[in-house]
Amino acid sequence: MELTYKGTKIKLILGDITKEDTEAIVNAANSSLLGGGGVDGAIHKAGGPKILEECKEIRKRQGKCPTGEAVITTGGNLKAKYVIHTVGPVWKGGNNNEPKLLANAYKNSLKLAHKYNIKTIAFPSISTGVYGYPKEKACIVALNAVKEMLDKLNFEEIRFILFSKYDFDIYKKTINQIY
Ligand code: ADP
Repeated sequence: MELTYKGTKIKLILGDITKEDTEAIVNAANSSLLGGGGVDGAIHKAGGPKILEECKEIRKRQGKCPTGEAVITTGGNLKAKYVIHTVGPVWKGGNNNEPKLLANAYKNSLKLAHKYNIKTIAFPSISTGVYGYPKEKACIVALNAVKEMLDKLNFEEIRFILFSKYDFDIYKKTINQIY
């Protein structure tokens, strides 16, 4: 599934983000930046220890990464040259600024990518695992946040990597309503 919006190709892919060959992949990290389970664990495992070393350096310099913010490391052994680590919100029922914070995670990842002149980026479905954000709601926020940024910044390609058919179908159903 793919479309073009304001010159940027948008692709939905059912797969494992650690295998993507975009210049950057985005990690759904936690604010410690010191690794975790889910996609975070998979990225550190596939990318090797260099990514964690760089995360530790960032921790020393600037402390924890606040929710909605993003930091960047190299990609270690991954095909991707960079990993952008962003922290999505924990779902606490929806009245705790979750949509804004989730949108910020996508937007700040793209701002950082732009700063590094990165043209191709792959996103996982941030916050929809352990952090419990309802998948349909998260999908709408993700697609809208990226669209909003594409009104300002240009990229070659943005991929949404969905880890299950269920997630992929949600994106497929929703994307035409937003783009
Ligand atoms: P969070 O703590 O932000 O919820 P998780 O890693 O628990 O992060 O889950 C975020 C999403 O990433 C979930 O939809 C999960 O299915 C998905 N996911 C887990 N592993 C991978 C992977 N290797 N590639 C892409 N997506 C993944």
